Amino acid sequence: MLDLELLRSFVSVVDAGGFTRAADVPVKPGAYVMIWGRHCFFGYTVSPNGEIWWFANPPSRSEIPRDELRRLTTDRLREDLAGLLAADRTPGAAIVRATSEDFGLSNQYDLPTVPTWHNGSMVVIGDAAHAVSPSSGQGASLAAEDAVVLATCLRDVPGIPAALDEYAQAIKQYAPDRAASGVDWQTSGWTAGKLFEKAAAAGLQCNGSSIGG
Ligand SMILES: Cc1cc2nc3c(=O)[nH]c(=O)nc-3n(C[C@H](O)[C@H](O)[C@H](O)COP(=O)(O)OP(=O)(O)OC[C@H]3O[C@@H](n4cnc5c(N)ncnc54)[C@H](O)[C@@H]3O)c2cc1C
Repeated sequence: MLDLELLRSFVSVVDAGGFTRAADVPVKPGAYVMIWGRHCFFGYTVSPNGEIWWFANPPSRSEIPRDELRRLTTDRLREDLAGLLAADRTPGAAIVRATSEDFGLSNQYDLPTVPTWHNGSMVVIGDAAHAVSPSSGQGASLAAEDAVVLATCLRDVPGIPAALDEYAQAIKQYAPDRAASGVDWQTSGWTAGKLFEKAAAAGLQCNGSSIGG
């Protein structure tokens, strides 16, 4: 069993997200709006049935302890987030205020890689193998790449263990290209984290010791 707590690193943002039908927002179905707001990264989309799906990544200088996260109420979190989002002329604050269902907050981590990607007929792909910061905007692409390589190996190589060996080799082969193209997203993730840190340092009420605390 891997100890993920030893492998992961906190990326200076925390995450909340929810669903609502009660806000009227200007977005075409199928479009995904991302807002690099003054104090908080926010995104939302409208599902085909009209429900708004949203997430918010406020800055946090340090990991928020689990018991503190558990103590946070939705009411408190909703007010804190809406307060951060109100600085932007966007629907973010209204969407969060219109969310009546419970939602929580979680720390966000990079998981650069794990030492073993497969064992016998077991395999890990996507975030389970290499989770990146939400601010990098790459996690789903990397997961899709893994899935395509894995599917190709399962199609072309007889026997599951041999196909998984081939998959691990293939990933190793294109890892340098991936790392090179990953510099941009790592930098952007890092930059976003640093910006968030600066925002927090400037006195925003959204860091490990003050959000909901
Ligand atoms: C706030 C936020 C914003 C993001 N923005 C972007 C972006 O703009 N662009 C981008 O490319 N990526 C983005 N990502 C990252 C992206 O969402 C992930 O990298 C991607 O979803 C990883 O896909 P996955 O299939 O590996 O894992 P997941 O999407 O997490 O899928 C894993 C699935 O396994 C299920 N599961 C877990 N345990 C079990 C179990 N024991 N039994 C059965 N099922 C189980 C889970 O419920 C889940 O459905 C963002 C992430 C966050 C949190």
